[in-house]
Amino acid sequence: MARSQRSKRQKKGQQRRATAQEGQNRLIAILNEPHGADERMLRSSARHLVRLSRRHRLSIPPEARHLLCRKCLAPHAFGTNARVRIKHGQRIITCLECNHVRRHGGGPRAHRRI
Ligand SMILES: [Zn+2]
Repeated sequence: MARSQRSKRQKKGQQRRATAQEGQNRLIAILNEPHGADERMLRSSARHLVRLSRRHRLSIPPEARHLLCRKCLAPHAFGTNARVRIKHGQRIITCLECNHVRRHGGGPRAHRRI
C-alpha cells in the first residue's frame, strides 16, 4: 500500500472506516461462500458483521443484506433456515429460526409511485 499518500492526522477517521470496510468485505466473503466454513464460523461472522457495521456507523452493503436475519442475526442458508418467496412482486424472506419476515422490493406495481 502507498504509505506516502496518507497524511498524518486528518485521514485517521477515514483510515478507520476503510479498515472497517475491509473487515465487512472479509465477513461478507465468508457469508457468501458458506460451504468452506462451518456453521459456528458463519454465525459469528454474521454477528461480527452487524456489530462492526453498527460500531462504525456503516450500512450493511446491499449484497449482504439478504444474507442474514436482522433480528436474530442467523446467517441465512436458503432452503435450510430461510424461505424465499416471490409474492406480489416482492421478495419475501422468512427466517425459520425466529420467524421474522422481511420484504424486499417495491410490491405490486399498482402500488408504486412513479
Ligand atoms: Zn431470524
